Amino acid sequence: MPELPEVETTRCGIAPALVGHTIQQVVIRERSLRWPVPQDIEKRLRGQRVLQLTRRAKYLLLETTGGTALIHLGMSGSMRITAADEPPEKHDHFEIQSSSGDIVRFNDPRRFGSLLWAGAWPAKHALLVELGPEPLSEDFSGAYLHATGKGRKVAIKQHIMNSKVVAGVGNIYANEALFRAGIHPARAAGRIALARMEVLATEIRSVLRDAIRQGGTTLRDYRGGDGKPGYFRQQLLVYERGDEACKRCGTAIRRTTQGQRATYYCHSCQT
Ligand SMILES: [Zn+2]
Repeated sequence: MPELPEVETTRCGIAPALVGHTIQQVVIRERSLRWPVPQDIEKRLRGQRVLQLTRRAKYLLLETTGGTALIHLGMSGSMRITAADEPPEKHDHFEIQSSSGDIVRFNDPRRFGSLLWAGAWPAKHALLVELGPEPLSEDFSGAYLHATGKGRKVAIKQHIMNSKVVAGVGNIYANEALFRAGIHPARAAGRIALARMEVLATEIRSVLRDAIRQGGTTLRDYRGGDGKPGYFRQQLLVYERGDEACKRCGTAIRRTTQGQRATYYCHSCQT
């Protein structure tokens, strides 16, 4: 599932084909994505200039002179740049034809992705309005995590995966950051000292930055390639390593479930 680093990698990969250019046409081949693609979105976007392509949590915001469209990659979505004469592939559900001469195509076999209209005030869109700060922004810190966790019995892993607390820390990176910070994923958020929360905030940023950097190495794949960003797999320390040896101490990594999501941790390194 694409998480924040994959979305950021996608943003960097497709931005040059869109930003500063005019949208000549939007073609929708499949309207039943996670939410129906609005009937008028092609008309709203056609002829508009793309001012910016930004990211909020796992949403891409296509900001144009006529308003903003929201794109979400869902469970299996990816976007790639193709040449104008290249025929669409199976599961290419929509495409944006740019005055740059490129086409940006959205491919999503499971159709949990989305293309929505957010108008002139995207920050007020129902999907974005309740999101907490971006983990890579200055608003996010150990002091902030400590303050939001104060008095709370919720497990720290669920606390950092709550998008109202901090936006876009998905399961893979929550597992990895907690391991790097040496914090047990089930520890109550209210029972973690400020100093440890500062380490955790630093590790959340660092694991996300490392993964974004990893994705950045495969950006050339966005042009004519398979459009799949680098998935940072080889650097994972605990995620999907159940029963394998901890890379720090050799103890077997344990797997449990929290909030229906798989948790991996080392019971010796994480307390
Ligand atoms: Zn260990």
